[in-house]
Amino acid sequence: MKIALLGYGRMGKVIEQIALQRGHSIVITVDENTSSYDITQADVAIDFSAPMVAVANISNCINNNIPVVSGTTGWLDSYEKMVCLCKEKESAFIYASNFSLGVNIFFELNKVLAKMMSNLSQYNVSLEEIHHTQKLDAPSGTAITLAEGVIENSNYINWKLGNSKKSHEVPIEAKRIENVPGTHDVNYNSEVDAINISHTAHNRNGFALGAVIAAEWLIGKSGVYTMNDVLNIG
Ligand code: NAD
Repeated sequence: MKIALLGYGRMGKVIEQIALQRGHSIVITVDENTSSYDITQADVAIDFSAPMVAVANISNCINNNIPVVSGTTGWLDSYEKMVCLCKEKESAFIYASNFSLGVNIFFELNKVLAKMMSNLSQYNVSLEEIHHTQKLDAPSGTAITLAEGVIENSNYINWKLGNSKKSHEVPIEAKRIENVPGTHDVNYNSEVDAINISHTAHNRNGFALGAVIAAEWLIGKSGVYTMNDVLNIG
């Protein structure tokens, strides 16, 4: 598989290593210094770039009918626009706020727990995410997916970054600590006890492997997919 890497930072470099180990070749690498490139040289594109350029990168792939896997976070207000464009062009697209297998299992566990807790009004839910200090967006895309999983399965209506005194809001605390690849906690607290579920990434390899597996899976398909489709879970 000939891969275009849109974004060649921390994630792009780990994806390159894993793609090469799996027998693929990297035909294009794009970073902020790249002036032009021909996306049609690639069989598939993997975008781990920056919130302000993700939509342009993804649109360029879809408009040229190149399947695109995006892990960039912080641009989701344009997600529906990308879904419509992909359907119109009959191209192929996967976005995941987190490509690691463990986190996608954790997403499902979170939904089941939210449903079980939904009638227990003595518990208040809160989320915490910790990432390295270079991360541009907050809260993380993964924390937003977790909050959405709680909201879909409970009486909570929306989420809020920081503290919230409103009973229908899921508060998300975002901490930035040097060298942390990604830690997420979902906490249910009552006056008598607490239930916590937690996912800790030890490094970036899990995200990168998931993105390469998603790219392998996407080749030859058209439509908009999620990691649940790739991993056949949920
Ligand atoms: P990074 O800052 O190390 O790398 C970003 C790269 O994007 C840099 O190489 C930069 O030069 C490049 N870039 C800037 N403008 C560009 C453009 N116009 N086109 C293409 N590339 C451009 O960041 P990172 O740690 O590699 O993370 C990248 C993104 O991936 C972030 O949004 C992060 O939140 C997200 N992320 C997602 C997952 C997941 O599993 N979904 C996991 C980790 C990180």
